[in-house]
Amino acid sequence: MDISLSFHLKDKKMPPLIEFQHVTYAYSKASIPAIKDISFSVEKGEFIALIGPSGAGKSTLCYCFNGSIPQLFGGTMSGNLQVAGCDPFQDGTPVLAQHVGLVVQNARTQLFNVSVIQEVGFGCENLGLPREEILKRVSGALEFVGLTGFEDREPGALSGGQQQRLAIACVLAMNPEILVLDEPTSELDPIGGEQVMEVIARLNRELGKTIILVTHDMDFVAKYADRVLLLCDGSLFMNDVPQKIFSNFELLKNARIRPPQVCEIMHDLKENGYHLPDFPITLEGTLQVLKEMQYA
Ligand code: ADP
Repeated sequence: MDISLSFHLKDKKMPPLIEFQHVTYAYSKASIPAIKDISFSVEKGEFIALIGPSGAGKSTLCYCFNGSIPQLFGGTMSGNLQVAGCDPFQDGTPVLAQHVGLVVQNARTQLFNVSVIQEVGFGCENLGLPREEILKRVSGALEFVGLTGFEDREPGALSGGQQQRLAIACVLAMNPEILVLDEPTSELDPIGGEQVMEVIARLNRELGKTIILVTHDMDFVAKYADRVLLLCDGSLFMNDVPQKIFSNFELLKNARIRPPQVCEIMHDLKENGYHLPDFPITLEGTLQVLKEMQYA
């Protein structure tokens, strides 16, 4: 290769995988927009947590990634949006589905086939993939989410956690580079929720998938997210690393967000005059700080 060309390619900055520029959206007949003047970008492989109080616009934002907004919901939209090289304003949802997998809060509503194997293969069939490839993808996706052996089971008869993992397998089989998960554990018991969260963490860590996760589980955000987008009343309140978000108690109070419990303890210690060498946001970090302070 021509050296000057290779230099040129190296120096050329890749565009972000996702880019929102001043995006505003109002549902049809709504008097005020659900999301207002939202701008941010996401690099490939990032793990983004989307947090905020109820009604902040988190689900609305999720539907923008795969073109459901505005294409299926209608309404009025302005600004610019780029997702994996696609334009969700223009490109159809089948095109976007190859780049973005959306898992909603209640997976049951996304499942309609008579068996697990048919459910996971459905999206691949729509892509027109050869049978061999479909079977390979289905078995790989089921293995990844821990549902090998469930192929012939009826999706409706699975537990809530298994259904949520099945919904993840369905989008994973389509091999999108971005997974958007809207409160995937809010209706699950703690064990089922943990299993789903572990699958999400592995999607990012082992497969390099870019994750956009809406969650109220702040411990999980503190442990896994690279960055947090904090939405409030339809506006992007803050876009920063979890440590910066969870140590800003004034901001959290205004946004009606409760940080991980360890942060509340650290905050109380600080308020009571203790000098902290750091402001940890995870249990592991807290133990380390307590050790340094010679309390553990
Ligand atoms: P969150 O996910 O943060 O709870 P949503 O995106 O669901 O917030 O809602 C943001 C705003 O948009 C709320 O005021 C909500 O009432 C409104 N909204 C949500 N879905 C619809 C819809 N299909 N039609 C009209 N308004 C909606």
